[in-house]
Amino acid sequence: MADEFPFEISPMFEGERVRKDDMYVELAGPKSKGFELVNAVETDAIEDGKFTLIGPDISDMEEGGRYPLAMIYRIAGELVEPDLEAIVERRNHDFQNYIQGVMHLNQRYDVWLRINKDSIAKGLNSLEHIAKATMMLFTNELPFIEKIEATYITDMGKVEEELAKAMERYAARDERTRNLHDEDVDTFYGCSLCQSFAPTSVCVITPDRIALCGAINWFDGRAAAKVDPEGPQFPIEKGELLDEIGGEYSGVNETAVSLSGGEYNRIKIHSFFEFPHTSCGCFEVVGFYMPEVDGIGWVDRDYTGMAPNGLAFSTMAGQTGGGKQVIGFLGVGVNYFRSPKFIQADGGWNRVVWMPKVLKDKVLADIPAEIVDKVATEEDAQDLDTLKEFLKEKDHPVVKNWGADEDEEVDEDEESTGTSTAMPAFGMPDPAMLQNLPPITAGGSGGIKITLKNAKVSIDKIILSSKK
Ligand code: SF4
Repeated sequence: MADEFPFEISPMFEGERVRKDDMYVELAGPKSKGFELVNAVETDAIEDGKFTLIGPDISDMEEGGRYPLAMIYRIAGELVEPDLEAIVERRNHDFQNYIQGVMHLNQRYDVWLRINKDSIAKGLNSLEHIAKATMMLFTNELPFIEKIEATYITDMGKVEEELAKAMERYAARDERTRNLHDEDVDTFYGCSLCQSFAPTSVCVITPDRIALCGAINWFDGRAAAKVDPEGPQFPIEKGELLDEIGGEYSGVNETAVSLSGGEYNRIKIHSFFEFPHTSCGCFEVVGFYMPEVDGIGWVDRDYTGMAPNGLAFSTMAGQTGGGKQVIGFLGVGVNYFRSPKFIQADGGWNRVVWMPKVLKDKVLADIPAEIVDKVATEEDAQDLDTLKEFLKEKDHPVVKNWGADEDEEVDEDEESTGTSTAMPAFGMPDPAMLQNLPPITAGGSGGIKITLKNAKVSIDKIILSSKK
């Protein structure tokens, strides 16, 4: 059957990247619009294998062009239920990356595809090839799908119209976990799908913590593990509760050891600094610690500007991803901001100092009333100086920690062991852990600012000369 396609299909193409120079066309992505959606329907409502395209096809697209793309799949089968939609939808990412010359990134409303020039030269001139190959993989790899059909849309007006409906579907799925909490269940779910590129990553999905890709919640994990016990989603028995606030469980730790190849033996689900959840690279939002204000900022994929630490999302994503426990950075799904246990080990919302306005507006209703006006956006603060001013003016809870910290910097004894004597209200990250914090202070309002903490500097001579 695969012979009918003008490309090879294999998991070995999964890591293939399509760079700008090799790209024939870009679909969806941060500079356009798009989404992927799977809907479960009744069996007789589907014409198996049918493909519909609304808008221009690849053969109508200009080389180097950028176009919107919506991919809507309808699936049916005796075992198919709405709880499986998100799981099937997430596999669109894998399966499209199996296609030689096609790169698929991200999920849901963040999807981003590129097709390379070689594939076009070899005859890939229609989205129907991609849709049919993807549908073939869906039914081969997920046998509970008995019938499937696909509608792809490249017409901007229609994509926008359908995107609004898709957003309602995503929100309805996310809403389901709102009244269910970690303590209400005995089983969490794990997902190993991203180990193909982040081999030590351990994804733990709990009622209070959606997957960091934002695509799989606890109900989705449960449904997937039930229908496909050999698949990438699996149950994790919670075991003994070891740290209620941090969210540490013996069962999760055992899974961490086995899934990470022994790289990690502890994970605290609701902690930012201590044994944090690993970040594979699919996260919707990355959190970053700013020691200068002792606060945490968050930046999402759609934000194209610089965060107050002078770094863009892509730079921080590069430092955070790869399946490591990176102290000082953390990848999360947007829906985790709505969790009552959101980084509760490190002060929760009281530790959040900055986020892009669009992201803040998205989760506005879930930010505690007493802190909502104290979280800066790019409209309030563009660098560390303006952020400091803003936080001081608003009397943000982190400001209480500054006095002790600043005194400490001035009074620091040469014999200091580096152990902080100032203990901020929410718990300062362990300095030993911060040793691995990548350099994060750059840019700012002009030039480069270098912050040295717990460092000894000796200078023999200083020569001052006038600038010619
Ligand atoms: S980010 Fe985690 S939950 Fe999402 S697909 Fe990857 S491994 Fe699975």
